[in-house]
Amino acid sequence: MLIRLLSFALFQGLGAILAAIFMQVFAPSHGGVVVSSLVGALGATYFWLLWDLSRGLRVMRWLRSEETREVAVESGLWGEFSIRIRRLLRNNERAVQQRDERLQEFLAAMQASPNGVVLLDREFRIEWLNESAELHFGLDARRDLLQHFANLVRDPSFAAYFSAKDFDRDVLMPGRASSASLPVRLSVHVHPYGDGRSLLLSRDVTAVEQAEAMRRDFVANVSHEIRTPLTVLGGFVETLQTLSLTDTERARYLDLMAQQASRMQSLVSDLLTLSRLEGSPPPSVHEWIDVGLLVDQCRQEAGELARLLWGQTHSLIFEIQSGLSLAGSAAELHSAFFNLIGNAVRYTPAGKSIRVIVRAMDDGGALFAVYDQGMGIAQEHIPRLTERFYRVDRSRSRDTGGTGLGLAIVKHVVQRHGAELSIASVPGEGSNFQILFPPHRVQFLPEPAPAEAIAA
Ligand code: ADP
Repeated sequence: MLIRLLSFALFQGLGAILAAIFMQVFAPSHGGVVVSSLVGALGATYFWLLWDLSRGLRVMRWLRSEETREVAVESGLWGEFSIRIRRLLRNNERAVQQRDERLQEFLAAMQASPNGVVLLDREFRIEWLNESAELHFGLDARRDLLQHFANLVRDPSFAAYFSAKDFDRDVLMPGRASSASLPVRLSVHVHPYGDGRSLLLSRDVTAVEQAEAMRRDFVANVSHEIRTPLTVLGGFVETLQTLSLTDTERARYLDLMAQQASRMQSLVSDLLTLSRLEGSPPPSVHEWIDVGLLVDQCRQEAGELARLLWGQTHSLIFEIQSGLSLAGSAAELHSAFFNLIGNAVRYTPAGKSIRVIVRAMDDGGALFAVYDQGMGIAQEHIPRLTERFYRVDRSRSRDTGGTGLGLAIVKHVVQRHGAELSIASVPGEGSNFQILFPPHRVQFLPEPAPAEAIAA
C-alpha cells in the first residue's frame, strides 16, 4: 500500500517537474511555471489512474476467464490481489476435488453392498440406486432416475406399506426375478432422513426364510417321528397296567415296546450323527483308511441285518479291488457305506442279489457302488431322497427300522469328503447308488490279485 501511495506521489511530482521545466524552457514566467506545475501534476494523476484502471481491468478479465493458473498482473496491489485470489481458488478446487473423491468412494461402497440401496427425494422420486437395488426391483439406474418409486414397484404388500407410511418396520415382498420354481423374497425398509428424504434398503432374505422353513419342518418331523413310537409305548403301558394278561401276551407286548424304544434310539442316534457331521471340522486328508477292511465289516453287518429282517440272506456279492485306501474319517465312511448297503438289504426281497463294487478309476479317483434288485424308486422321488425324513415307501422304512435320515447322512459324508453321490433306479428292477471319490482322497497300491469276488 505504501509503494502504491509513493508511486502515486512520484507520478504527480514527476508530472509537475516535467511541466515546470517545459514552461521554463519554452515560455519562462513566474506565474506560468506554478500553473504548469499544477496542470502537470493533474495530468500525471489522470495518467496514473488510467494505468491503474487498466491493471484492474486485466485482473477482472483474468478472473472472468476459466484459466486462472497464470496471474494477469504480478506486481503491486493488483498483483498481490491476483496471487491471493489464485491461492483461494486453488484451495477451493482442491477441497471440491477431495469432496468429489470421497463422494465417489462412498458411492462405490454403496455400490458394492449386497443390499439394495435407493435414495429418494421428498416426493419419493429416485435420486440414486445401486446395482443390487436394480436387480431386486428390476429397475434401471439411468432410465428410472427421478421416477416415482411406488409407480415402478407395484407389489400389493409394498404398496400397502408405502401408503401407510409406517416406516418403523420392514415389509416382505417377492423380488423381481421371483418365480414359482425359484422364489426370491425381499425385506424392504424405508428410513426417512434429513429434510423429508428417504433411504430405502432391500435385502434378499430367501435363504433366511428357507432356513427358517426347514427348521420348522425339521422340528415338526422330529416331533412326529418321536410322537408315534411314544404313543404306541404309552398305549402298551396302559394295557399292561389295566388289563390282566397272560404271560405270553405280556411277553409279546414287552417285545413290541422294545421295538418302539429301539426305533426311538435309532432316531436319536441318527440325529446325533447328523448334528456331529454338521458341527465338526472337515475330515482329515492325511488319515488313510483301508477300504477293503471297512467294506468287509459292512459285509458282515449286512448279512446279520438280512438274517434279522428276512430270516435268510440275499446273494451278497462284494467285488473289492485290494490296495485301495481313502483319506477321511473311518467312522463317517463306514456310516455312509453301511447306510447304502443296509438300504439295499432292507428294500430288496430275500433271494435276490445285491452287488457291492469298490474299484479305482482311471482318473485316480475311486468308486463305491451298490446295485440291488429290489423294489426300485420312481424317477420323481430320486432328487428328494437325500432330504431329511423323505421316504418313498413309508411303511417299509418303518418296518425295517428306518429313520428317514440314512441318505441325508450319506449326502453329508459324501460332501465332506469332496465326493459325488449319484442315484439311478428302475421301479420293479432295482437301484444303484454310487459314490465317486476325488483322486486327492484316493491311494491305490495294486497287489498281484487286483479283484476278488466273495459271495456271502
Ligand atoms: P430310511 O431310513 O427310510 O431308509 P433313507 O434316507 O435311507 O431313509 O432313504 C430314504 C428313502 O429312500 C427310503 O425311505 C426308501 O423309500 C428309499 N430308498 C432308499 N434306498 C433304497 C433302495 N435301495 N431301494 C428302494 N428304495 C430305497
